[in-house]
Amino acid sequence: MLTLHSVTAGYGATTVLRDVTLTVGPGEVVALLGPNGAGKTTLLRTATGFVRPRSGRVEFDGTDLTGRPPHQFSRRGICHLPEGRGIFASLTVRENLIVQARGRDRDEAIAAATELFPILGARLHQTAGSLSGGEQQMLALSRAYLTNPKAVVVDEASFGLAPRIVDQIYTALEQLVAQGMSLILVEQYVQKALDLATTVYILGRGAIVHTGPAADLDPTEIYERYLGID
Ligand code: ATP
Repeated sequence: MLTLHSVTAGYGATTVLRDVTLTVGPGEVVALLGPNGAGKTTLLRTATGFVRPRSGRVEFDGTDLTGRPPHQFSRRGICHLPEGRGIFASLTVRENLIVQARGRDRDEAIAAATELFPILGARLHQTAGSLSGGEQQMLALSRAYLTNPKAVVVDEASFGLAPRIVDQIYTALEQLVAQGMSLILVEQYVQKALDLATTVYILGRGAIVHTGPAADLDPTEIYERYLGID
């Protein structure tokens, strides 16, 4: 469904991704792993139109989107959840949800979001910037959910969060997958990503060094062989 074909991409004179091919099918979950600086965020940004490939193609549902601006990716149902979460800090939770609801009935949108994360229901009139880190991530994920995406690209969903909150985020991600959404996850908690993922891609210095079913991989081996951590 969403495919990068032999993509080379970078910033200015720096080449970050080299000949990267990655695909996520309908309802599939890809875990994208690799050491710091390998190019994971750059790959996600390329998959959602924020970085233009220098060569290669990005296709979604058979349409070539290479070089198109990010809003054309989002209009087709590809949603990017950036590491900084991308919420409006000075707006309330309710306002953040309403902005995202666009044409949809406001109450229905708020009900859908608070069903995914009930805690948001108790925070509707609080500014997003005053939420805890975990609640902010939940709000970001609810906002993504309201766009009814076909594929969601999630950069470090659990960054800086307590394990209990990480579990809640992953339970919600599981629900999205159960509804048929595809995910590409960049995740520092390798085991969390492997539990949800169907397929794993490992990036090393901008190139794919391993691709295979998630079930075949042992997290310890991943750390030792690919992530440079003993
Ligand atoms: P991390 O796990 O540390 O977040 P990553 O695998 O996500 O790393 P990227 O953030 O994609 O890696 O960065 C890959 C390389 O691209 C790094 O060397 C980084 O310094 C460089 N880079 C990232 N963004 C930019 C930018 N906007 N301009 C120039 N170089 C950049």
